Amino acid sequence: MSSEPSFTELGLRPEILRAVAEAGYTTPTPIQQQAIPVVMAGRDVMGGAQTGTGKTAGFGLPILHRLAPQANTSPSPARHPVRALILTPTRELAIQVEESIREYGKYTGLRSTVVYGGVDIKQQLPIVRGGVEILVATPGRLLDHIEHKSVYLGQVEIFVLDEADRMLDMGFIPDIKRIMALLPPAAKRQNLLFSATFSGEIKKLADELLNAPQLIEVARRNTAAETVDQSAYRVPQEDKRALLVHLVRSRNYWQVLCFVRTKHGASRLARQLEKDGLITSAIHGDKTQVARLEALTAFKEGKLQVLVATDVAARGLDIDNLPVVMNYELPHVPEDYIHRIGRTGRAGASGVAISFVDPAEEKHLAEIERMLKKKVLVHQPEDYSLEKATLAPAERRERGARTTRAPRPERSDAARAPRAPRAPRAPAVTPDESPRTTHDDRMREREEAYARNPDQPLQRPVARAFGKAPEVPMLLRKRPALPALLESTPTPQRLTDPAEPVAS
Ligand code: AMP
Repeated sequence: MSSEPSFTELGLRPEILRAVAEAGYTTPTPIQQQAIPVVMAGRDVMGGAQTGTGKTAGFGLPILHRLAPQANTSPSPARHPVRALILTPTRELAIQVEESIREYGKYTGLRSTVVYGGVDIKQQLPIVRGGVEILVATPGRLLDHIEHKSVYLGQVEIFVLDEADRMLDMGFIPDIKRIMALLPPAAKRQNLLFSATFSGEIKKLADELLNAPQLIEVARRNTAAETVDQSAYRVPQEDKRALLVHLVRSRNYWQVLCFVRTKHGASRLARQLEKDGLITSAIHGDKTQVARLEALTAFKEGKLQVLVATDVAARGLDIDNLPVVMNYELPHVPEDYIHRIGRTGRAGASGVAISFVDPAEEKHLAEIERMLKKKVLVHQPEDYSLEKATLAPAERRERGARTTRAPRPERSDAARAPRAPRAPRAPAVTPDESPRTTHDDRMREREEAYARNPDQPLQRPVARAFGKAPEVPMLLRKRPALPALLESTPTPQRLTDPAEPVAS
């Protein structure tokens, strides 16, 4: 017999146990075994847990347990104040966390909802104003609701900061501090902070937020999920696509989540792989929320072979039994590698993570290995010459380069005259070494700045310049530019970090 406590032994309410059983969970995961009793007892928690460990139920179940006695059927919003606030860095994670909370709490009578940026706030206002006990939010959009006076945080009893390290990376800490200032005093609420990694800055934030927290760590800090089989290929950038197609075909891979660094790169690779015959889609911050959810649903249902994603878009994705993650390009931040490969090998299942390493990316591999404190197995080169010879030609980056060139006219004799010797060429440079003044670099910088905070509106000069409305349904357009918001609210303050991109 196992010595692990069952969900029943943890003392959860019957209505929660029923939902847990219906979700198919039989045994609590290690983070659940540790966190559930502590959170049920009302203590603060500093949780070191990787993605895929069952962390959401680890805090979600005891929160539901504690709040369940306050559930009521009154139609009055005043009887449904926000009692638990859960902040997450990305909309995908916010949606997933709220879905889980709703599933676990379906027999409790508590109300929950999720608010995130990138969609019109108007569709969220009536739900939030109607009153919910559990609110899951991304920080930027929560501040928008506060500006609209649709949310009051003065009755929050439990505050959860999920993926705090990612919040920090994305520049959300000033927003979080603004939100914390609107909560009841720290001593009067329960605070839970979860993070996969603990830098000095996260510890500082934890000191400000937590009262005598219980430290719960289920995996060693900065270690990748042990159930993931990690390996790499050394392959030049221009051959990566042929190798990817070769691996997918020769190993019959299905459901490959493939990471690239930029939004443009994601779209381009998805288009190319489609031409190569793999059923592919892409998710990144420039896609509408609807398009992202559609692609994700198709991928989860096994209708896509490859989903190409950027780090931000794929953050927090939970796909049951995802078998393969590919790092088509290595992340520049080693922690992102952990987050990426954490999409597979979840909740004890096994998974495969394969990285493609171009010579210019060797330094990133070395940083990742330093963080992992172990070497990543490098495979012998595979023979992908067949794919290389037969794949559709790569798209050119420059605009206009996609049109096929007219055949060159026959050269006249005069043109065949010997040419003057050419000036020596500048040595070839890799993108990482090139001066930071090219168009591509500027685009990349813009994307990276945006990627740090996807809940901020993205400037889209192109649509405006051509006088065309973007093809996005009205309800799903990005939120209005700031001046319009300020006109409708007496608060003359912009509640975003000045360093973040803001709509014109
Ligand atoms: P999370 O780390 O919260 O994103 O959870 C990762 C995955 O594990 C989700 O698909 C959950 O549905 C699943 N999960 C959570 N707890 C359990 C459990 N006790 N038994 C089996 N699966 C679980």
